[in-house]
Amino acid sequence: MESVLTRDLIRLATESIDRLGAAEELPDPVVLELPDTLPLSRGRTVEWHPLVALAVAGHICRYWAQGAGPRGPFAIEAGSSPAGWATLVSPGNGSCPSRRLQAGGGPWSPSGIWITELCGHPRCTEPAPAGPGSRCPSHFGDPGPSGGTGPHWADLAARAWGERHGADGREHPRRVAERLSRLVKQAVAAGMPKEDVAAATGSRRAAVAEILRPAPDPEQGDEWM
Ligand SMILES: [Zn+2]
Repeated sequence: MESVLTRDLIRLATESIDRLGAAEELPDPVVLELPDTLPLSRGRTVEWHPLVALAVAGHICRYWAQGAGPRGPFAIEAGSSPAGWATLVSPGNGSCPSRRLQAGGGPWSPSGIWITELCGHPRCTEPAPAGPGSRCPSHFGDPGPSGGTGPHWADLAARAWGERHGADGREHPRRVAERLSRLVKQAVAAGMPKEDVAAATGSRRAAVAEILRPAPDPEQGDEWM
């Protein structure tokens, strides 16, 4: 194999699944023999469950299609486990930053099939804060995609944080409260005990009771007066 491409992941996975005999038999792991031409991969192999390889191929097509190109070639980074999990790297070039994902597990693993986008800095184990190739706070100083040294990664991470948590710190808690309120009400309506709803959602019982308290009827005036 001269290079590890997305289509290699798909081909090896489907070949492995095709070899599956009896239904209860586990399929062969997908063994990637990595190319010597990729410096990070020299002499390494990785074994993935075929469904992990398919999931990684799908993830690449979905999230790495812009800029990096979904084809590859990809490298496996040093420190990856020979069986179970591996860090797949798309080396950066030009305006496209390097991208890294870690994947492992399997359909029978307690953790299931998992894929995590990692910070694009080599060998960093922090998650990517703002999508593929973005840099964690320890690596905000890395050169940006165009080679610039401005706060590119910090800006990306800050904006992603704002989208998730609300830039002013007020909007987001309200949205969370609204979703929690709906969840609690519908869970109780479905027959779940209030104490179980509180425990499952990590809420205080008093908070659940507050959500379930009937709204005051405006026709009746303020019931607390
Ligand atoms: Zn990092």
